[in-house]
Amino acid sequence: VTPDEFRAAGHRVVDWIADFRADLAARPVMARTAPGEIRTAFPATPPETPQPLDEIFATLDRTIVPGITHFGHPRFFGFFPTGSVEASMLGDFLSTGLGALGLTWQSAPALTEVEEVTTDWVRQMVGLSPAWRGVIQDTASTATLVALVCARERASGFALTREGLQGPDAPLVVYASAQSHSSVLKAALVAGFGRAHVREIETDAATYAMRPEALAAAMREDRGRGWTPCAVVATSGSTTCTAFDPIADLVAIAAEHGAWVHVDAAMAGSAMVLEECRPLWHGIEGADSLVLNPHKWLGAIFDCSLYLVRDPEHLVRVMSTNPTYLQSQAAAAVTTYRDWGIALGRRFRALKLWTLIHLEGVEAIRARIRRDLDHARWLAAAIAATPGWKVVAPVPLQTVCVRHEPPGLDGEALDAHTRAWCDRVNTSGVAYLTAAVLDGRWMVRVAMGAPTTERRHLEETWKAMQDAAGSAVR
Ligand code: PLP
Repeated sequence: VTPDEFRAAGHRVVDWIADFRADLAARPVMARTAPGEIRTAFPATPPETPQPLDEIFATLDRTIVPGITHFGHPRFFGFFPTGSVEASMLGDFLSTGLGALGLTWQSAPALTEVEEVTTDWVRQMVGLSPAWRGVIQDTASTATLVALVCARERASGFALTREGLQGPDAPLVVYASAQSHSSVLKAALVAGFGRAHVREIETDAATYAMRPEALAAAMREDRGRGWTPCAVVATSGSTTCTAFDPIADLVAIAAEHGAWVHVDAAMAGSAMVLEECRPLWHGIEGADSLVLNPHKWLGAIFDCSLYLVRDPEHLVRVMSTNPTYLQSQAAAAVTTYRDWGIALGRRFRALKLWTLIHLEGVEAIRARIRRDLDHARWLAAAIAATPGWKVVAPVPLQTVCVRHEPPGLDGEALDAHTRAWCDRVNTSGVAYLTAAVLDGRWMVRVAMGAPTTERRHLEETWKAMQDAAGSAVR
């Protein structure tokens, strides 16, 4: 591709994306392709010679677009909202175009310093004190892994400089609620704690929040048998039903044992741009680390996960490596982000956060999140007012957990009905919802937050849910 061809093709690419987005609402939300269908639509061997650009656009239209479940669709209510805001997309394009690579500060000073600025902007937007400093990771899973490694090293007196986890020290224990995201268990396993030392703490029957008394009892019990309570992972906005663990209480209990507190606010952290939501993470200033994903509800394009810490020196001590080829005279005066996480090479992710905040402004972001809260309240009220339908968990933010409970249906038959009507909505293409288990029973989550969702999209979806449940019951 010559520079002139690149320019022309680039314009076509942007036009194609703009057209795709303009037509999105008319497309089915869920991918309808069969397993393997897309793979077999491609040549099995790579082309030896250059192929025409037009074929790329034809393949996009014919094969790739139907093979995507569209998170940016106005009737996407699955998993969690994830960024598809144009303002952020522009920054992502620019990051790709610049081809900058963060290895050292010197390899792209702008990459480091724009990241310092934008992570601090987000800190301010969510009302955190200046005691926090941030770094952009790829995902919350990585941030939580880093947090647990930092906790492990604090509790073990930097065992990594000795025998690591192969030493004779007492087992270290991680605590998280039964509602915590699977990434917490994965991080604990990867960090070497072992399944036997990850304690699942009971949650409140009504709110699904971690019970502080249960945490305190588990920690006492572990102390009693010679284990060391190492880290508590509190969830601010659980994946299944947006439960909020009582951070202030958990911080106080963890402090008695010198345990690290990491807060997983991957999805719900974005809500803290609204002052009225901040009581939900009361006590946050007492935590050691925190992850929130601007690539979820805030609107940034995936991937963009913000990891915030109160003790960057500890983080750097745990993560730092300093081979000669990465050393620089400037190191003492700058932030060296490769020492703030696992990856050495880092993308210029801060650009998509900058363009998002710069072009939208914080006020518009707040308004969008408030609108989603309104949508959730509207849907919850409509469901609660409809016979046979039930909202099965509190709705603190934008996710409504719902079940259709026709008379005479319970147990496994009710589960089968729930999954059937959810599938029916999804395969219809009208909307996309996620079924999940809460309290041992299947229910369906309706998670607001796609940037273009309006009330009418929600009304259409609620109608599709009722139609699907009505026909599923027959
Ligand atoms: N934590 C919570 C509460 C989540 O909802 C999710 C995503 O679903 C994650 C962590 C994982 O996020 P990521 O895909 O960025 O690792």
